Amino acid sequence: MDNGVLVEVKDLKKYFSVETGFVEKLLTKERNFVKAVDDVSFSIKKGEVMGLCGESGCGKTTMGRLIMRLEDVTDGNIYFDGQDITNLSGSELTRFRPNMQMVFQDPHASLNPRMSVGESIGHSLAVQKLGNKRERKERVREVMKRVALTPVDDIIVRHPHLLSGGQKQRVVLARALVVNPKLVVADEPIAMADVSVRALILELMLELKKDFDLTYLFITHDLATAKYICDRIAVMYLGVIVELGDIDEVFMNPAHPYTEALLSAVPVPDPKARRQHKIPRGEIPSAVSPPPGCRFHTRCPIAIEICKKVKPEMIDIRKGHYVACHLAK
Ligand code: SF4
Repeated sequence: MDNGVLVEVKDLKKYFSVETGFVEKLLTKERNFVKAVDDVSFSIKKGEVMGLCGESGCGKTTMGRLIMRLEDVTDGNIYFDGQDITNLSGSELTRFRPNMQMVFQDPHASLNPRMSVGESIGHSLAVQKLGNKRERKERVREVMKRVALTPVDDIIVRHPHLLSGGQKQRVVLARALVVNPKLVVADEPIAMADVSVRALILELMLELKKDFDLTYLFITHDLATAKYICDRIAVMYLGVIVELGDIDEVFMNPAHPYTEALLSAVPVPDPKARRQHKIPRGEIPSAVSPPPGCRFHTRCPIAIEICKKVKPEMIDIRKGHYVACHLAK
């Protein structure tokens, strides 16, 4: 039965083992782990743009890579359109791959400098053995036109060093779309782009979503960008989701002090408007030994005693607006 959910993540964990020196290995048998994602559950609805936001190191990129199955999970499950894909491997995973594509932060680094634009875009079609040679060429040209990589005859033979930043990002988008995916995981897709082309790329992504019937997981540290493109957002802090809800609801009524702090740093268009910046104090604690109780308690301006000991559960405070805070009403 179709419940309108494309991706469901349940109790997901990803721990990376920390390499220790020779002497340390001799002195202790205990191994340390970076808890990049620690018991996270959420879902992405079909056709929506789900944002995953938070400071650098909060686990959002790892989450995207786990959903893409570019990393093995430590524990928990990932369901895609009802199918458990957590342990797909080998040929099963290869066959599944076209369903999900990733757009990486640095388009230059993610393009092979030895491949022409046509080869880069058509590569996944060839790997997946989709269509014959002529059909693959046609599909590449069709998608290039759709992302405005024109004139096609000129650009299709170029190598990455002969492209502008905006063109490289369009090649990366075309490469993701050419296999007709259902989900695109976009990891800070405009972070490296010139300010002048950022809005154009976001506009294009929204148009492509409609045309290709896509669902996006949009990973960003920038809440202003999230506000522009996302339907819902999940805010991550130190490997866990602390708040999740419709974008307008979370912007209007942030219920977690960390979200409030992030929002206070978002510029407002009115030059007369003054916002009180509530940047959390102190450094983000280590993900190797996150604080007990609420992970934010070491930086939270309103922490109380219970916050140091008891982990707050995610509660639904307003029709799909979830927050993990002991003081949330
Ligand atoms: Fe702050 Fe306590 Fe809420 Fe955590 S649970 S955000 S420490 S008030």
